[in-house]
Amino acid sequence: MKPAGPTNVPYVGRFAPSPTGPLHLGSLTTALASFMDAQLHQGTWLIRVEDVDPPREVAGATEAILAALAAHGLSSPIEPLFQSTRHDRYKSICAHLLEQKMAFYCACSRKQQDNFGRCAAGCQDLDISPVGNNLRINLPVDNRDFTDRVYGYIESERLTFDNAIIWRKDDLPAYLLAATVDDIDSGVTDIVRGDDLLFETHRQLAFYAVLKKDVPRYAHIPVVRNDNGKKLSKQTGAEGIDINNPIQNLAKALVQLHPEFKFSNESTNPSDWLRSLQDHWYLPTKSLQT
Ligand code: GLU
Repeated sequence: MKPAGPTNVPYVGRFAPSPTGPLHLGSLTTALASFMDAQLHQGTWLIRVEDVDPPREVAGATEAILAALAAHGLSSPIEPLFQSTRHDRYKSICAHLLEQKMAFYCACSRKQQDNFGRCAAGCQDLDISPVGNNLRINLPVDNRDFTDRVYGYIESERLTFDNAIIWRKDDLPAYLLAATVDDIDSGVTDIVRGDDLLFETHRQLAFYAVLKKDVPRYAHIPVVRNDNGKKLSKQTGAEGIDINNPIQNLAKALVQLHPEFKFSNESTNPSDWLRSLQDHWYLPTKSLQT
């Protein structure tokens, strides 16, 4: 099943874990979906470690995630990209945006921001110091709707202005900047990731417009939730998967994506298991209402 949209560019997908804890069932499910989608399109699958937020990082998580992916046959012929090595590139984008007067420093505290996380205090017109303050980008607010391959048409809120943070006051790149620039630089055509980022996509699309780049296709898969309905994550106490049981884990991840899937895969080696799944694989479809 081919995604909608132009298909003349070779497929490049990616899995972009943050090293805030070990790979758990939720992140394995996302990795499986994005890997399978890349295989289906005979594309390239990249791994990008989003290690741009040292305060949230857990020691050893990067190594554990990479080892877990490899143990599950989720590997890429291309070396993983580490965002921590890309600060100069992100800074050069900030410098360019400042030069074009499309970015500005903002001294608003979190409390002073509005409900959309915007500066509504006119910092743009003040002489705010770059030191210890957030850098914001002026984003276009028109035409940010998109069609998601899982959820269908996603309308964006009709804003009159938007100005998201791209460089944080603690001197670290913000997710919006790092992820968008890396997806562009890596030639990513297809993003398959958790639906906790569904509405973040509008801002990423606006950023693509600022940088005058073609947008990728998106597929947001339902995130795995715990019994209290919270996304599985380190914060909600998700346990790391036991990498000695890769087949069992892959089967569990598949059930998360397709509870109705009837497919007996006898392979005992993860790479063979993934290959056998290839002929049966399709992305789930969901509606926002359900
Ligand atoms: N690093 C993000 C996460 O672990 C994913 C970002 C993305 O796929 O764009 O949730």
